[in-house]
Amino acid sequence: MFISECLKLNEQNHLEIGGCDTLALAAEYGTPLYVMDEGLIKKYAKIYTDAITKYYHGNGMILYASKAFCTVYMAKLIKACGLGLDVVSGGELYTALKADFPTDKIYFHGNNKTMEELKLAIDNRVGRIVVDNLFELDMLDALAQEAGIVQDILFRIKPGIDAHTHDFVMTGQIDSKFGVALETGEAFNIIAYANKLLNVKVVGVHCHIGSQIFDLAPFTEAARVMMHFIGDLKDKLNLEIEELNLGGGFGIKYIDEHDPVAYDCYIASVSEVVKNEAILRGVKLPKILMEPGRSIVAPAGITLYTVGAVKEIPSIRKYVSVDGGMCDNPRYMMYQSPYDAVLANKANAPKTELVTIAGKCCESGDLIQKDILMPKIAVGDTLAVLATGAYNYSMSSNYNRIPRPAVVMVENGQSKVIVKRESYEDILKNDL
Ligand SMILES: *Cc1c(COP(=O)(O)O)cnc(C)c1O
Repeated sequence: MFISECLKLNEQNHLEIGGCDTLALAAEYGTPLYVMDEGLIKKYAKIYTDAITKYYHGNGMILYASKAFCTVYMAKLIKACGLGLDVVSGGELYTALKADFPTDKIYFHGNNKTMEELKLAIDNRVGRIVVDNLFELDMLDALAQEAGIVQDILFRIKPGIDAHTHDFVMTGQIDSKFGVALETGEAFNIIAYANKLLNVKVVGVHCHIGSQIFDLAPFTEAARVMMHFIGDLKDKLNLEIEELNLGGGFGIKYIDEHDPVAYDCYIASVSEVVKNEAILRGVKLPKILMEPGRSIVAPAGITLYTVGAVKEIPSIRKYVSVDGGMCDNPRYMMYQSPYDAVLANKANAPKTELVTIAGKCCESGDLIQKDILMPKIAVGDTLAVLATGAYNYSMSSNYNRIPRPAVVMVENGQSKVIVKRESYEDILKNDL
């Protein structure tokens, strides 16, 4: 009945998540409130790790892309699930360190890592650094030399596949701020150069072709192109690549019309291509890494709001305003992302009218969703916006000096706060 399997209708006709009544959660912790079902996060993490075992003899690792939802609790949970971690900044790395995440299973990405960030990574013996460009490579080699280590690195490659469009195309991708291009020879040249440096060791190549992708083809095509490149590196440089990291970007169901591929299918199809290409190209089978972010956490999360002002502009639009908005979910504002919503206190009421759900920030564009079919909504109702587990809390802000909501984790009818609600004092804490 609902888009995510962690949601149910209970006997009071309230929306339930992870066995907890959302009305009770809103009453206990206040709104706006992020709620996440831990059971579902664990389930999805396991689907991915099991698929590596089943389709690729366990010769690989799933890295959770922490930028989707990054907190100390989440890093501990991912550690317990046995996944590795992808971080893209000093702040995400620091969060992982505070969670005692095994640093050899951390991959550090980013197109403009600073010297301080690279030092933090080296000092803590981060397993892999995914190098983006020549400037970073030289800086990293010098820092590794100073520290007296040889750092294992991968290179971020632009494979020339743009999967952001619905029908993916093989051009255009060269115009990206991330990585080095294959078709111009840039990628080959930088690896040839790195191969001669003394304090970095090239162990792998990486690509990430987009996000919220629903097709298998862009991934299998990326795997094929990357294996071809691995063959070139062996032929021309006698360099054996040990790791092939194919990034994340697996699509999820935000609304009914979305029809994502089952998560293990990605790994099944990619494994097939990699095995075949390894034989064709005469290279050894690389370890496969994949980096799902959104698909592990988004379906597990919802955001609860309290409805305030309801404003009907005759024959134009009905605005339903909630006690949060772009400050806790900027995704409609940034990308016009579709979301589904449920009236949590009347979760079985028929959807009868088109409304626009607005936030409380001082921006006309501060909407959660435009023209969405909802039951009749009244002041004081509790509204649940669904599939907000990824890129909501992690992209939130204090715009208008609005404190961030708390994050509550639920599982089997139990709930606990994993991130406290911000106070006005928290907002002032760095003001002098
Ligand atoms: C964002 C990102 C991911 C995760 O993408 P999702 O769409 O959340 O799965 C993985 N790898 C890299 C390098 C990224 O930048």
